[in-house]
Amino acid sequence: MMAQYLEIKAANPDCLLFYRMGDFYEMFFADAEVASRALGITLTRRGKHQGADIPMCGVPIHAADQYLQKLIALGHRVAVCEQIEDPAEARKRGAKSVVRRDVVRLVTPGTLTEEALLTAGRNNYLAAVARQRGGEGGDLFALAWVDISTGEFRVAGTDRERLAADLARISPSEIIVSDAMFAEADLSPLWRDLAAAVTPLSAAFFDAGTAESRIAAHFGVATLDGYGQFSRAELSAAAAVLAYVEKTQIRERPPLAAPVAESSGDTMLIDAATRANLEIAETLGGARQGSLVAAIDRTVTGAGARLLARRLAGPSTDPAVIERRLDAVAWMLADTGRREALRADLAAAPDLVRSLSRLLLDRGGPRDLAAIRDGLERARLIAARIGHARDAPPEIAEAAAALAAAPARLIAAIGGALRDDLPHLKRDGGFVRAGCRADLDEALQLRDDSRRIIASLQSNYATETDIRALRIKHNNVLGYFIEVGANAADRLFAPPLNARFIHRQTLATAVRFTTGALTDLEAKVAGAGERALAIELEVFAALVAEVAGAAPAIRAVAEALAILDVASSLAVLAEAEDYARPIVDTSFAFRVVGGRHPVVEQALRHDSKSAFIANDADLGSGEGGAAGRIWLVTGPNMAGKSTFLRQNALIAILAQIGSYVPAKSAHIGIVDRLFSRVGAADDLARGRSTFMVEMIETAAILNQAGARALVILDEIGRGTATFDGLSIAWATVEHLHAVNQSRALFATHYQELTALSARLERLVNVTVKVKEWQGDVIFLHEIAPGIADRSYGIQVARLAGLPPSVVERARAVLRQLEETDRKATVHALIDDLPLFAAGQKAPASAEPDPIAEILDAIAPDDLSPREALEALYRLKAARRRIEK
Ligand code: ADP
Repeated sequence: MMAQYLEIKAANPDCLLFYRMGDFYEMFFADAEVASRALGITLTRRGKHQGADIPMCGVPIHAADQYLQKLIALGHRVAVCEQIEDPAEARKRGAKSVVRRDVVRLVTPGTLTEEALLTAGRNNYLAAVARQRGGEGGDLFALAWVDISTGEFRVAGTDRERLAADLARISPSEIIVSDAMFAEADLSPLWRDLAAAVTPLSAAFFDAGTAESRIAAHFGVATLDGYGQFSRAELSAAAAVLAYVEKTQIRERPPLAAPVAESSGDTMLIDAATRANLEIAETLGGARQGSLVAAIDRTVTGAGARLLARRLAGPSTDPAVIERRLDAVAWMLADTGRREALRADLAAAPDLVRSLSRLLLDRGGPRDLAAIRDGLERARLIAARIGHARDAPPEIAEAAAALAAAPARLIAAIGGALRDDLPHLKRDGGFVRAGCRADLDEALQLRDDSRRIIASLQSNYATETDIRALRIKHNNVLGYFIEVGANAADRLFAPPLNARFIHRQTLATAVRFTTGALTDLEAKVAGAGERALAIELEVFAALVAEVAGAAPAIRAVAEALAILDVASSLAVLAEAEDYARPIVDTSFAFRVVGGRHPVVEQALRHDSKSAFIANDADLGSGEGGAAGRIWLVTGPNMAGKSTFLRQNALIAILAQIGSYVPAKSAHIGIVDRLFSRVGAADDLARGRSTFMVEMIETAAILNQAGARALVILDEIGRGTATFDGLSIAWATVEHLHAVNQSRALFATHYQELTALSARLERLVNVTVKVKEWQGDVIFLHEIAPGIADRSYGIQVARLAGLPPSVVERARAVLRQLEETDRKATVHALIDDLPLFAAGQKAPASAEPDPIAEILDAIAPDDLSPREALEALYRLKAARRRIEK
């Protein structure tokens, strides 16, 4: 057996090997040590290998999912090795022969299907990244991603610049790349920054030459023309993802839908830092609670929650698509009674696609079949309900049509075959309804009759032997047997009874016998039971085959249910939270009236503190031009600057997923890229908040943002010394205004920046209003035109409980500092704006003045005469250098 183990293990060196032995998966050697530590299970020993004890640990089959989940979450991969023949078969080959075993599946983060290993409302994607070298525009990249638990399969082309943001949107659990790409230093930050497991694979997986035929072979088609046009890189990624699915699933083919080509321009590009910063899917601390999705998700099905999350991850950039979705929400809003009835039906619909995948991967049970039946039944019910509404907009009407097409024959077939009360697993039978198959009923009848006869034997034997305490019992080792007390046994050992009662076993207090009649009956029971189980499994397999045939229809129904769930849940949200329908078009407008922060607003209400103060924003250029306005937001800490910035970004996202928005009204010209950055000092929660990161991210924005982008910059330049920071913020605003021309919100505590509005025509100064009252500051959270008069840092510090002596001292220091006039410097800068001096190009960075640096370093009172002379030489040398 160890030889077999070692052979299988050698073929799967990068996985923990779950080796099936009876009712356990056992692990040995290093695997056992790793797993026992990871799972907190006992490490034992079994036998010896090369003279040393073999460490071993095991998990019971019935609880295996839960242990798998832990191991996968910790980043391990698991190879599941099953017995692939009946132990009786092995015994036929000889007493010592080992049951045949083989790995039937590799469990990796991106290839899960079990309910216990998945989150209902989240997709679990496996993504492949492929590259096509060269070309005029540089390397081309492509992504292919599948969720084998739902059958989704998508492909998209991308480029080096967008790659990280596209991966962040998909948010895969596992990424596969070629060994070569994995080894490249230039790409390594990509893999490092993602929360996904990265699996490097040999180049053969990605071979572009054979990719098309490999994909066609998987889907059993002659050509991919019917699926659309794919680039070489896309084919390579898609073929790799399929090959990896085949490699991990080994014997089973998951029911994947045909690949859908996405264009990465179809969605708003949001990079990973922006996603994190806006807390879209989770908070900076990693929790769902407090994120945008938690605040707006009112879906009632897993599939609905997944669709909503997918839309949030990639808001649309197509006004027509957005309009369609908004129409659906409006329809759901129009009639509360109709909507609530619909939602009650939706809530009762099981997760069709996940059951479908399990069934077709041979990991499903009778309850998955029932789920398909119930889901399809609900679908027809909902279709009928909507069918009566003539006012349904296209998105709703199309969904209803898909639901109406739910295969009624399949519902009937499953309904006719399954019992009402279903076991979890198919392996013990007991799920096929009486009357479904005559041969099954007959076998069960025979089994039950035989059991009844066995029961009646007991009283016959008791009378015959005159042993009152005689019992017929059953266990797994002996099967059926006759048991009598130790004192009564003599009678059965003596003639004439010993001719019929055959001794089986003697225990301390009891002796066990059997008879020919009992053995015959037992064989009948067992035979009938086996036959019944075989028939049940046959029925199961036939139903699964029928389900497989209807897979595309089932998938369409599931998609339609999800669409209705999302539309109705967004209507519930809009109604409960008083959201308004946005206008989304191809203009460059960004006009929000009475905007609110969707998460903060709910949190404030929940804590029943103060109400949220709504604020307007207008970042369009006004005259229909393409260049956006920049709002420079000043105001003290805690006034609400960050909240205001983020709420506008979130409103843009919500509008473009086709949701109503937290505002009185909103007019959003499509945003194609969204950037949001926070100054380092605010970003400590991420634990890697260095000034460098802040600058890298700011650079990314200044290099990438265009006229359709929306840029949110919060306290940029704060992670360094005041004048450094001010200078960087200053130059950044100039660049945004002149070069990027994006719509932007820029919060700063550098009031000096507000002077820029005198020269930058599209820069607007706004401030968050505060009131001072008896030396305290009161935050009004109200955005108004103008400039913060002061930063109120000392008042805020006082509110925070700094000792009064420290507050007093700080006031005195501030007064002194304010006397040295910082304003004069600013005015000098304004008159000498490099931007205007150098025309409309990006401002060049100012060279440091070496002479000034030398002079600044000199402290005349501390110099010896000789040092003074040396300083003069240095100055002259510096001047000569400059002249050259
Ligand atoms: P800043 O960025 O100016 O330091 P924040 O945006 O972090 O301030 O806001 C501080 C707190 O003020 C928030 O946690 C929130 O509770 C409250 N707040 C902000 N904006 C509003 C608003 N518009 N209405 C009500 N409370 C607000």
